[in-house]
Parts: sequence; structure tokens; C-alpha cells
Amino acid sequence: MSLTRTYDPQNIFARIIRGDAPCYRLYEDEDVLAFLDLYPQSYGHTLVIPKRSAACNLLDVDTDALCRVMAVVQLLARAIVEELQPDGVQVSQFNGTAAGQTVFHIHFHIVPRYE
Ligand code: 5GP
Repeated sequence: MSLTRTYDPQNIFARIIRGDAPCYRLYEDEDVLAFLDLYPQSYGHTLVIPKRSAACNLLDVDTDALCRVMAVVQLLARAIVEELQPDGVQVSQFNGTAAGQTVFHIHFHIVPRYE
């Protein structure tokens, strides 16, 4: 069951964190990385992930890491709204294949929406 799977250190986001795979970085600190989605749902589609937490999803991430990620989600949502002037901004996060999750390293989507 994908909700309770073992964390795979070879998943694409783990490889991006290690520098083994490329990404377009928008923000990085000791704990959090944000980069553009390779298959964006809209212009500016951004992903935000914890760097130190080997967590598949919201259910297994430690609360401290989650709080740090959420602070960056808000920071970048504000920056994206200011820079790109979308009409709305969607923040989403999926847990398990049945919920639409395809990469099993916890991540948040920031998707600017334009009318
Ligand atoms: P999920 O459906 O798991 O919530 O979202 C995973 C996201 O990762 C998708 O929006 C997908 O486009 C994105 N993605 C998949 N592979 C890569 C990759 O190699 N690089 C980047 N930047 N994004 C990726």
C-alpha cells in the first residue's frame, strides 16, 4: 500500500537533494529546497520539499521538518504572487497513489492559477 511504503532513497527528489539529478532551484536553506516542477501545471509551478527528512508523505514526516517546509511554502507563495501576479494560487499535497502522489518524498505544490 503506497501510504505506508518504505522510503526509497533513490526517488527523484532524493536524487535532486543529493545533487545527483538536476533541477531549477528557486530557494534553498539547510532544511528546505524549492524548485520548478519539470511538468508544470501552470507558469511558475513550484515544489517545496524537506531536505533532511526521509519521509514519503504527510503521515510520516516529523512535525519540525513539516513546519519548516510550510514556512517556505508561504514565503514562496507570497513571492510568486508578487512576481507573477496570478489570479489565484493553489497549494496542494498528495498522500499515496490513490490520492495522486507519484513521487514518494513529501512535497508541496505551489501552482499559480491564471484566469
Ligand atoms: P505528485 O503527483 O507526487 O504530488 O507530484 C510530483 C511532481 O513531481 C509532479 O508535478 C511532477 O511533474 C514532478 N516531477 C516528476 N519528476 C520530476 C523531476 O525529475 N524534476 C522535477 N523538477 N519535477 C519532477
